[in-house]
Amino acid sequence: MPGTRYIFVTGGVTSSLGKGILASSLAKLLQARGYSVTIQKLDPYINIDPGTLNPYEHGECFVTEDGAETDLDLGHYERFLNAPTSQANNVTTGRIYQSVINKERRGDYLGKTVQIIPHITDEIKRQIKFLGSKGKYDIVITEIGGTVGDIESLPYIESVRQMKWELGNKVLVIHLTLVPFLAATGELKTKPTQHSVKALLETGVQPDVLVLRTEHEIDLNIRKKVALFCNVHINAVIQSINVSTIYDVPLKMQEENLDDTVLKKLGLPIKDKPELTAWNNFLVKLKNPTSEAEIGLVGKYVELHDAYKSIAESLVHAGAMNLCKVKIRWIHSEKIKAGNADEVLKGLNGIIVAPGFGHRGMDGKILAARYARENNVPYLGICLGMQVAVIEFARNVLNLEDADSTEMNPKTQHPVIDLMEQQKGITNFGGTMRLGAYECSIISKESNVFNAYNKLSVKERHRHRYEFNNAYLKQYEDAGMKAVGINPDTDLVEIMEIPGHKWFVGVQFHPEYRSTVLNPHPIFVDFIKNSLEQ
Ligand code: GLN
Repeated sequence: MPGTRYIFVTGGVTSSLGKGILASSLAKLLQARGYSVTIQKLDPYINIDPGTLNPYEHGECFVTEDGAETDLDLGHYERFLNAPTSQANNVTTGRIYQSVINKERRGDYLGKTVQIIPHITDEIKRQIKFLGSKGKYDIVITEIGGTVGDIESLPYIESVRQMKWELGNKVLVIHLTLVPFLAATGELKTKPTQHSVKALLETGVQPDVLVLRTEHEIDLNIRKKVALFCNVHINAVIQSINVSTIYDVPLKMQEENLDDTVLKKLGLPIKDKPELTAWNNFLVKLKNPTSEAEIGLVGKYVELHDAYKSIAESLVHAGAMNLCKVKIRWIHSEKIKAGNADEVLKGLNGIIVAPGFGHRGMDGKILAARYARENNVPYLGICLGMQVAVIEFARNVLNLEDADSTEMNPKTQHPVIDLMEQQKGITNFGGTMRLGAYECSIISKESNVFNAYNKLSVKERHRHRYEFNNAYLKQYEDAGMKAVGINPDTDLVEIMEIPGHKWFVGVQFHPEYRSTVLNPHPIFVDFIKNSLEQ
């Protein structure tokens, strides 16, 4: 769309200030005023996507409907906007270079020296404008990963400078910085912000709006000082104070008139006040729980909660729907041993075994599934968590002693979880992954999932290689574990349940990628509902 406006969000002083939440909150306010908005993340690392990154380094890998493995900020974008993102919403330096190098090899630049400026910056701008060119969006918000001053984000900042030069007031730059509080003197300090704006100015970019992260109210005097030193209008110096839930941030930004300021600067009509009734209703529920539930989240990356961001947020959404405050007990799978499982898992209202790859922590996960099954504790197994429940059932109910996934033990006598025939022999990582949305038919109306969805066909997102081995299905069903969700095209098992249990559901897909504030995921909602009765 020729009139598409582009907003860039850059970060200064430190990382982890919440650029993703700021971008999502602004997008939410603009959407609530009737604008169509999407958010994009540019990541400065060389990996093609975060699919191959260790969650300890980068948190969860979020998967979009079209099967892109992306940065976890895209999860925030979807949860706030209640709209799907796609591969085009996350671009890495690796992807940019790959595309330019492919063009060079094809001869597209024949005779030319291929350089960062203009070739890399042109490719960056192409990726940004691509979202605008679809004619779907009035506003594209692009979050630049990293912190201003990093060498690796320079080509991105240079592209922002060029876009501002080319498109004038159709482009706006918001710079998010930190105003630290010095307890010793009881003062808020603006110097880091001044320096960070200076670093941005050195690259030719004048921010239009400054958002100041702070633990204390920033008074008018400080705002005036920042405005003067940074050439930003006083109305465009905005504070972002710490809040108890990220879902309060849009309202805080509205109090600061961020949306008005942005629309004015972009020359767009202000329209009516944002329509946030549903959002506010969610917040009322979230903040006024009438019950509490403790859910055990068993995984091998629990030291870094960001590794399970979407699951944690899905529990927040589902908790609010049930007027229940959900407390997560983060349980490291390697800490669960045969001798202590009862003690570690005692008192939980429900247990989730998280997705994962590789052997580490498997024994503890299997013990957690066993504990839930034997003690009638509501169980939600997600992806590997479903596979774990299947392995546990084989070993302890079907008495197939060495039953396993061939991912963990390629030589097992009983590969109850295995690769599909056509995947075998492919070695390229990523080449064998089932990624993105696939259809799932609910084949039993007597199931927990039918009760939750109230639908016979759903679409859910996947990220895995291994599958339930249908050669064993009859044995499972005879012994009381049933396949209740099936891929209609391939017959692959998508959902396993134990009908004799209070609530025991294993899903091969990732429901957490689809839960949003306005559409909490039915499986999580039903899981919490049943955990509450526990
Ligand atoms: N490692 C398992 C597989 O590849 C599960 C993956 C996951 O939990 N996302 O099938």
